[in-house]
Amino acid sequence: TVDTAHIQSLDSAHFLHPFTDFKDLNARGAKVITKAEGIYIWDSEGNRLLDAMSGLWCVSVGYGRKELADAAHQQMMALPYYNSFFQTTNVPAATLAAKLASLAPKVDGRSFEHVFYSSSGSESNDSNVRMVRRYWDLLGQPQRKVIISRHNGYHGSTMAAASLSGMSYMHAQGDLPIPNITHIEQPYFFENARSGETSDEFGLRAAGWLEAKILEVGPDKVAAFIGEPVQGAGGVIIPPATYWPEIQRIVDKYGILLISDEVICAFGRLGHWFAYEKFGYKPDLVTFAKGVTSGYIPLGGVLVGDRVAKVLIEQGGEFNHGYTYSGHPVACAVALANLQIMESENLPERVRTDLGPYLASKYAALNEHPLVAHAESCGFVAGLVLVKDKRTGERFDPDLSVGMLCRKHCFANGLVMRAVGDRMIIAPPLVMTHAQIDEMVALILLCLDLTWQELKT
Ligand code: PLP
Repeated sequence: TVDTAHIQSLDSAHFLHPFTDFKDLNARGAKVITKAEGIYIWDSEGNRLLDAMSGLWCVSVGYGRKELADAAHQQMMALPYYNSFFQTTNVPAATLAAKLASLAPKVDGRSFEHVFYSSSGSESNDSNVRMVRRYWDLLGQPQRKVIISRHNGYHGSTMAAASLSGMSYMHAQGDLPIPNITHIEQPYFFENARSGETSDEFGLRAAGWLEAKILEVGPDKVAAFIGEPVQGAGGVIIPPATYWPEIQRIVDKYGILLISDEVICAFGRLGHWFAYEKFGYKPDLVTFAKGVTSGYIPLGGVLVGDRVAKVLIEQGGEFNHGYTYSGHPVACAVALANLQIMESENLPERVRTDLGPYLASKYAALNEHPLVAHAESCGFVAGLVLVKDKRTGERFDPDLSVGMLCRKHCFANGLVMRAVGDRMIIAPPLVMTHAQIDEMVALILLCLDLTWQELKT
């Protein structure tokens, strides 16, 4: 058994948590998570919670998978570590790179034959900035430095990745963004559509903000555009169907690179190995992390498309960039075992053809709730807005922290759901049964009811 008070006192005395108000946490005491199995986690008091967030969008194959522990154990005994800097490689890193290349769908003859490894999504996006700049330097266009990103997009927390991220509260700390990173508005239909505008019309108009920004910056100065297929941490913002094809048309028109940040969306979460396939666009670089190992061990990286790889390899000479853990053998071995599970259990296809549509039908029913607007899902991510007046779409006063109120009821009733402002979001493990989806949606409904009751009193 765990002495909860003791762990909480160690925690508040010594552990500075990420994205946390330290003082507030110390006053409450952190919830101590002690074990997990399947789609459930347990705290030190013995409470079971259905983890509808897959940890932090990552535990795609669910908790307690012995195959992954075995793969780590075997690799640690054979070769726990070796670097990949000085013309050395290792079996899992090379094998995984080839595996990822084979899983990435080719579009219009473009393929991804190469992988650059890191240990996280943030590092991978920093690597993207380095690779993009190197690419244009090598092509004799060093003035192409500007990377365009989106408000409320999330690309990580290191200096460059936090700059790419479009959260103003992140930029406010640390004097960000760094130079040559600029943002456009997000394709959030609920918030940004004009009255009477259809979703398709809005998608085209939202993509047009990219072209306007390119013209404002100067087309010869723009290096790349980066976006998440579906914005995750920003609150599961699902773009209209017209959005990505129009973005593709615009990046093609100006010859700029397209980076698809699939740290959340790849490896089956949207029903495909990689999400660019779902939305029909052709990125040059694809960021991955999280689901590649189902979060069992840190690993991230970038799939590097032919256009960039060719220049880096043939014209680049030494690329002065990399990490101690690039191609870590244990992380890569766990990733291979994880992808093996995903393949043998057919998870991307099951999300696409069965689990995703089933979740969508159940989740859309939440739109009947008096507190809810715009409940929708895409594969195995879903979001809804908590509204004050369903008829007019009037929002709650942000000072009410209505999302946090709802999250409190979720925690108290055995459900992990995330609040992003007044949006409630989920990204459940891809291994759910229909009965577990029913159980999750019933819990969401219960927590919405409790939130509504509390707001009324
Ligand atoms: N990119 C996206 C789309 C993410 O969702 C995240 C994390 O949530 C990151 C990048 C950063 O990844 P990490 O936390 O592994 O650095």
